[in-house]
Amino acid sequence: MSKTKAAQVAVVTGGSGFLGSHLCDHLLREGFEVICLDNLITGNVANIEHLAGNERFRFIKHDVTEYIYLPGPVDIVFHFASPASPVDYLQLPIQTLKVGALGTHKALGLARAKGARFLLASTSEVYGDPLIHPQQESYWGNVNPIGPRGVYDEAKRFAEAMVMAYHRTHGVDTRIVRIFNTFGPRMRPHDGRVVPAFSVQALKNEPITVFGDGRQTRSFCYVSDLVAGIYALSRSNCNDPVNIGNPREMTVLQFAELIRDLVGSTAPIEFRELPVDDPKVRQPDITKARELLDWQPVKSLEDGLRETIAYFRTLLERGLI
Ligand code: UDP
Repeated sequence: MSKTKAAQVAVVTGGSGFLGSHLCDHLLREGFEVICLDNLITGNVANIEHLAGNERFRFIKHDVTEYIYLPGPVDIVFHFASPASPVDYLQLPIQTLKVGALGTHKALGLARAKGARFLLASTSEVYGDPLIHPQQESYWGNVNPIGPRGVYDEAKRFAEAMVMAYHRTHGVDTRIVRIFNTFGPRMRPHDGRVVPAFSVQALKNEPITVFGDGRQTRSFCYVSDLVAGIYALSRSNCNDPVNIGNPREMTVLQFAELIRDLVGSTAPIEFRELPVDDPKVRQPDITKARELLDWQPVKSLEDGLRETIAYFRTLLERGLI
């Protein structure tokens, strides 16, 4: 008698956050059983409420800096738990350091104990205020360890070091994705990041707050493209870090004007003080992802922004902002 093959089991730490919840959705579509761990300090159950009743999905409220006990088999651990916006990690500096360091250690320990693959959500912030442009994975970065952003940058750099140590010492089959600026529905309207900030300001016809002179650059990737790239990386055999992001680069001032136009707003642009250590440029070199994963972003910035703005408009209409 032939038995149906059991579904693969994925653990997603930070699974009720912005990226984590989109990753859970993607894994469920791919047929996985998904166990989502989150302590909800920046995650939100609203992001996973549509999964309630799905028998392949389980949510466990847990702080992954504490020992993770899970019975049963696990095939892959995606470590996505962390405060991730500059405002969040300025408000939660110690939790940010702890989840990058202790949380990565615990999540790696789980993967090792289960013989599971492990994928770390790292960040373009490991490159700091980069002196090489665009950023290739071979660049070691320019990070101020004691500045206000250092808590995030150094936590993720430590996390990468820990992942490579578990790979080399314990033979854990690991992956590292360096995630560049990503946007889409489920971002928190007040997380302080540029996409929610400008979208909500434009929708409310309030001044659009451009920091500094707005000549610093960023490159924005739509969340569905990002998750597709991360999933492809998880299926590849590449243990070295891989950039995933959209290389289309623009200044923050151009970005403010684009969002204002897409919303159809007449909100004025106001200039505010530039945060300390705000990177002057950022653009991923995605040659490696194209060659190794046969991946590249397909969603246009404008289409992605329209969907994201529609999401914030709905929150506004429901009185949630
Ligand atoms: N920014 C801005 N106004 C805002 C929020 C952010 O001008 O209200 C700028 C910020 O200084 C940075 C860029 O937008 O240069 C992207 O900021 P974000 O917080 O989204 O993420 P970062 O790329 O700095 O991690």
